[in-house]
Amino acid sequence: MSTDNELKEIVNDLKNYLEFQQSMGIETIPAQKLEAKQNTPEISEKTEPRTEPMAKTTRPPDEDLITIEEPAGLFDGKTMTLEEIREEIGDCTRCQLHEGRTNLVFGDGNPKARLMFVGEGPGRDEDMQGKPFVGRSGKLLTKIIEAMGLTRDQVYIGNVVKCRPPNNRTPEQNEMDTCEQFLFKQIRFIKPEVIVCLGATAAKSILKTKASLGSLRGKFHSYSGSKLMVTYHPAALLRNPNFKKPAWEDMQVVMKELGLPLRKK
Ligand code: SF4
Repeated sequence: MSTDNELKEIVNDLKNYLEFQQSMGIETIPAQKLEAKQNTPEISEKTEPRTEPMAKTTRPPDEDLITIEEPAGLFDGKTMTLEEIREEIGDCTRCQLHEGRTNLVFGDGNPKARLMFVGEGPGRDEDMQGKPFVGRSGKLLTKIIEAMGLTRDQVYIGNVVKCRPPNNRTPEQNEMDTCEQFLFKQIRFIKPEVIVCLGATAAKSILKTKASLGSLRGKFHSYSGSKLMVTYHPAALLRNPNFKKPAWEDMQVVMKELGLPLRKK
């Protein structure tokens, strides 16, 4: 890469980072030299994580880590491609959520992503566009991804249910039970190194737990060999600024695991 392009990338990267900090409610940064951008590992390629400076988290180590294996009997030994999974879903009427949908929201992003985000279900904007996380919450998620030094094209974003619940209510248990098989098939194909569950509903669906989000976040659980971090849904960050700092701490733990350079404030 030429020096000009490298410089542009650093400036752009810094701009994204500062915009993200601002969106997270952080108004000032200490006046100290910022580190130059180091070589960012290709997040979309599954490579060995690099050793980078440690992320700091204020949470004490916790012992209640959850390890979950893939649901038995769902895959019949097969790994379906994303196209095959989408084909299997078809014009789905398996649960009542099909009645109110405009578009089914399958998922979006890099099929070889090392990092996958999972939300609970589409909202109004997502239903209209057929893509996950494109509304206000989606814009904040994009900022979070960019502040991690990544782009949306480098990660994969999906949901537990693929159709919008009426008035954006939380999906009901029977709806999640019916639809989550497709998410599990997507995860099986993508095999991300890290899954980030955005909000308690996604966490409960994958980890099969009733534990609170507060007790689940900040540490890696495990789903079928992928490390799994639970953090706040971007909509919760928009509603409650107090969640922004711990959410960013969670992302720093994820960045460290993926060998992404941590940025100094
Ligand atoms: S939410 Fe899932 S199971 Fe229900 S209709 Fe939509 S695709 Fe089918």
